[in-house]
Amino acid sequence: MHKKTRILIVEDEEAIRTGLVDVLVFHGFEVEWAGYGPEGLTKALSGTFDLLLLDVMLPGMDGFEICNRIREQDPAQPIIMLTAKSSDEDIIQGLSLGADDYVSKPFSVAQLVLRIQAVLRRARVGAETHTRIQLGDALDIDILNLAGQLNGKTLHFTRREMEILQYLHSNAERPVPREELLNKVWGYAKTMDIETRTVDIHMAKLRRKIEPDPSSPRFLVTVRGAGYRLMPD
Ligand code: CA
Repeated sequence: MHKKTRILIVEDEEAIRTGLVDVLVFHGFEVEWAGYGPEGLTKALSGTFDLLLLDVMLPGMDGFEICNRIREQDPAQPIIMLTAKSSDEDIIQGLSLGADDYVSKPFSVAQLVLRIQAVLRRARVGAETHTRIQLGDALDIDILNLAGQLNGKTLHFTRREMEILQYLHSNAERPVPREELLNKVWGYAKTMDIETRTVDIHMAKLRRKIEPDPSSPRFLVTVRGAGYRLMPD
């Protein structure tokens, strides 16, 4: 069976909250709620919600603060702010803190449901692009399946190799030092020379897989004195 989309409502006004719960359940969502700011934050940080509906004015902690705290931990969490005042300042502050959208009260239920669906759709597209690494026309890596294609040839990766590729890919704007890879991918706190060789051995294996010509790397390049860098092409 298809898993239901889970929505958390953080709203202290009971009438609005009850109305929202009813409408969203009617539209097939699974709904939880909180009426108190800190409780809303705790639930939101459980990471089990597909989308958050966050009121701005809340007891204990306001919606902007909650949004801010969530963003520190999960930049991708879809969030829609519910703002009572439709003043531009509120809206701009909400969006600059990283809400995906806002809805001004009083809102029409139909409008809100459309906004929810739009934000969820964008989030899904975003999640899909994060499960693939595409480099040039030649190389396509499927992170979840530990697989890939190089010029039509199927590739298989170990989990460690995929973690290396993912880490380099998410830091593609700079070369990553070997010590940093050992720290972030292998989880070593302190590194010794013998261990930095481990990185080099993995890189050599990766090059044999993903490089059209492993002796002259095009995607996985060494930046002398700085580390390894994954090049878009
Ligand atoms: Ca409120």
